[in-house]
Amino acid sequence: MRKPFIPQLVYFEPKALDYPLGKELKGKFEGMGIEIRTTTSHNQIRNLPGDNDFQKYRIAKSTLVVGVRKTLKFDTSKPSAEYAIPFATGCMGHCHYCYLQTTMGSKPYIRTYVNVEEILEQADKYIAERAPEITRFEASCTSDIVGIDYLTHTLKRAIEHFGQTEYGRLRFVTKFHHVDHLLDAKHNGNTRFRFSINADYVIKHFEPGTSPLASRIEAAGKVARAGYPLGFIVAPIYLHEGWQEGYYHMFERLDAELPQDVRDDITFEFIQHRFTRPAKKVIEKNYPMTKLELDEAKRRVKWGKYGINKFIYQKDEEEEMKEHLYRAMEKFFPKAKIEYFT
Ligand code: SF4
Repeated sequence: MRKPFIPQLVYFEPKALDYPLGKELKGKFEGMGIEIRTTTSHNQIRNLPGDNDFQKYRIAKSTLVVGVRKTLKFDTSKPSAEYAIPFATGCMGHCHYCYLQTTMGSKPYIRTYVNVEEILEQADKYIAERAPEITRFEASCTSDIVGIDYLTHTLKRAIEHFGQTEYGRLRFVTKFHHVDHLLDAKHNGNTRFRFSINADYVIKHFEPGTSPLASRIEAAGKVARAGYPLGFIVAPIYLHEGWQEGYYHMFERLDAELPQDVRDDITFEFIQHRFTRPAKKVIEKNYPMTKLELDEAKRRVKWGKYGINKFIYQKDEEEEMKEHLYRAMEKFFPKAKIEYFT
């Protein structure tokens, strides 16, 4: 079972210590004997250790930067939510296909923001603008927030905040099973807790540094029993030898874990594996030994935003995948809602 994340190195922005969470985290990391450094800005960490890009990347992925979020204008996060809520940036996981590799470029270190109350106040303003329409906030657009939350409890604070709103909803997705501190949060049904799941083979080969499937499923059972609305993102769906059995088995294990009385309100999102040329380049640099299939000739091209094309599976493969996964899902979870397949 994967242990919770412990940073090897922590940076603080001096201003972060003006906030109670900043002070608390400093005390916590000092107590853990972790090296602490100061940085003028969470956007510029210049003196990260490491002799080459490969080493620097790995050290950055285990470095935590504690800062203040200055930009309080939230990005949009369609289609799953109206806004992305920025509690953290970056992730300690090493998923070979992680989109953060391309979006975060030279800053793969993990940032957590301690001005949580200001971020939540801003969320309240967005909610007020749209009321009485519901406004949904996605907390995992730029990080796997659950992975670091056992240290910060930011997410717990946010879950309880949204639990008290009439028109605000929170959602996030995780590949980690460290959820115990969130089980007693007063969520009031306003947070949808989603797990990213996959066939065992895919997790084992392409998602180092994250929790194994069995732990994620066990955590999903706990979350369901704590009364949270639950969801699963099956992503990326990846064709490999024995993929049909692998994905079927994943549903079987979910079926064995989840209580019957939570099954009326489960959502599934399905995303097939895709890559772009810039992503392929960065994957080959960061994970040169990867077995991930990135052969453009085997895929079909889907036009992407900003003119960057995506390479997705052939139409017949996509149809086979869809049919197989839908059939398994409907067998075990006939009342679940499919949000989309893409
Ligand atoms: Fe990226 Fe999610 Fe893997 Fe973290 S857990 S490396 S955010 S894909």
